[in-house]
Amino acid sequence: MTKCWGNFTYTPANKACFALSRRANHVPSMEKTLPPAGKLWLVGAGPGDPDLLTLRAARLLESADLVVHDGLVGEGVLALIPPHVTRISVAKQRSRHTMKQDHINALLVRETLAGKQVVRLKGGDPFIFGRGGEELDAARAAGIAVEVVPGITAAAGCAAQAGLPLTHREDASAVSFVAGQCKDLTDQDWSGLAGHGRTLVIYMGLATASAIADKLIADGVSPDLPVAVVERGTTKDARVLRTLLADLGDLVARERVQSPALIIVGKVAARADALDCLGAPGVAAQIRDFT
Ligand code: SAH
Repeated sequence: MTKCWGNFTYTPANKACFALSRRANHVPSMEKTLPPAGKLWLVGAGPGDPDLLTLRAARLLESADLVVHDGLVGEGVLALIPPHVTRISVAKQRSRHTMKQDHINALLVRETLAGKQVVRLKGGDPFIFGRGGEELDAARAAGIAVEVVPGITAAAGCAAQAGLPLTHREDASAVSFVAGQCKDLTDQDWSGLAGHGRTLVIYMGLATASAIADKLIADGVSPDLPVAVVERGTTKDARVLRTLLADLGDLVARERVQSPALIIVGKVAARADALDCLGAPGVAAQIRDFT
């Protein structure tokens, strides 16, 4: 009988040669002295719903020695980590950093050098406002094996599940992702990111929602532009609210919108499967009539 292993064909005639080559590759004495090879995986956990994990992410959670996760990763995803796998939370909040980024980087490098399969699990995609780039730099600087596993970023996941197409042939041919949390918001130039033919998605913009609306209007964006706010998108507690740009700050306050939430500004917001929340004094326009 003939069997193949890659390019090697096994026949009774070359049986001895095969046995020898296996022994040569095996080198048991070296295996004892070398430390096991660890690897770091920077893994996107998606926007919340565990069904939106990639198959690769789910497989890695099963085989990891250690999972280091942030606060955005929901309970449903964390529940997929087997009980024997060690878990460390490095949850960050806007005003409070449980573990500084340098310490997180050092932890990831140290545990990988110790020979572990380390999964760094991050909400959404590791490279969209996730500081995954800094962790990749740290891993490369330390010379450890590292691989990035993409995840569905909140903008894509939350918008799609709300029936809100971020691009649409009739409404928008460009999309921008911005972080609304930055201290120097007023100094930033957002002109050209929102308005006709464009969709603007704001991450971490809840606390600054009023200032963001004022800034956009001051930059010339129509106060009547539709805005959707997606709270805890893709989870069972998800809410999708919609109003006009002029009412954004008031909407966030009166509806007590909770983090995490995404703000989507643009004509496409009128297409969302959302609750219309007009009601602030002076906001009289009809969302569906926006042109
Ligand atoms: N790396 C993540 C983003 C991290 S920044 C990603 O790719 O999605 C954190 C911000 O993401 C939150 O403040 C919020 O604006 C947004 N976000 C993350 N998950 C969300 C969710 N389920 N619903 C709404 N917004 C979410």
